[in-house]
Parts: sequence; C-alpha cells; structure tokens
Amino acid sequence: MERTLAIIKPDAMGAGKAGKILAHLETSGFRVCALRMMRLTEAQAGAFYAVHRGRPFYESLVRFMTSGPVIPVVLEAENAVARLREVIGATDPAEAAEGTIRKLYAGSKERNAIHASDSPKAAAEEVSFFFPQEALVDPEG
Ligand code: ATP
Ligand code: MG
Repeated sequence: MERTLAIIKPDAMGAGKAGKILAHLETSGFRVCALRMMRLTEAQAGAFYAVHRGRPFYESLVRFMTSGPVIPVVLEAENAVARLREVIGATDPAEAAEGTIRKLYAGSKERNAIHASDSPKAAAEEVSFFFPQEALVDPEG
C-alpha cells in the first residue's frame, strides 16, 4: 500500500464539488487516511508550491490557492501516487482525458480543481506538510 496527497482546490470548494470529488476518489479505489479543511496562508501556499517559484504563473497560483478554503486529503491505495495522477488527469482540463476529475470539474489550467503529489518522495513530504504522524488513520480500522 502507498499513500499520496490530494488537495481539493478553492475553485472546486467554491463550486460545491468537494463531496463529488471525494466520492470519485473512493469509487476509484482510494481509501481516506486523513483529511482536514483549512484556508492556506500566503506563506503556506508559497512554500507548498516552492518548486514553481520564479515561474510566470507562481504569484497567481499562490493568490488562487489562498482565495478560499481547501481540503488536503491523504489517500491510500496500491500504487497510489501514479494512480491518483491518472484519476485527476492532465494539468490543463482541455488536455485531460474523459472521465478524469479535472475533465469533469476544472475550469482552467490554473483553476484545476485538485492537486496530486507527483512522486513518492513528494507525497511523503506533502503528507507531513499537512498532517502529523498521529493524524493518519488506518482506513481498514
Ligand atoms: P498540482 O501540482 O497542483 O497537482 P500539476 O502537478 O498537474 O498540478 P504543476 O506543473 O505542478 O501541475 O503546476 C502546479 C499548479 O500550478 C497547477 O495545478 C495549476 O494550478 C498551476 N499552473 C501550472 N501551470 C500553469 C500555467 N501554465 N498557467 C496557469 N497555472 C498553471
Ligand atoms: Mg505538481
């Protein structure tokens, strides 16, 4: 079993799609290990996306990610990191495959409904960015 991190982004929260996105994730075979709802500070959003600092979309991305609440979610499945990237679809919803979360719920390349870790190393770092070890629950009970 592997764990990864998703974040339901402010556009999806504002559109009232959090429940549908969580249902989509569960139907796709992921089990929820932890989740919280929060509003990111500018410092948190900037640090989370620090790898993109200096890119032309960085400031706008930080503004977007702090524009409303988000739901970080820890998900568990076999091969969870790669599978979640498949289930969310391409960064730009115009390029995302049919049936993916971004195809279904994203409005633009920036406002694209959901984040997913892009490697096992990033997943471990991103899970601990939002959750202390004791907040992670075994979904099997
Ligand atoms: P995420 O890291 O949020 O899962 P991703 O891995 O598909 O998305 P990244 O390249 O890591 O894509 O970009 C991080 C986020 O920055 C994107 O999800 C999107 O919100 C925004 N973004 C990326 N590229 C652009 C762009 N060219 N124009 C506007 N926003 C962008
Ligand atoms: Mg990314």
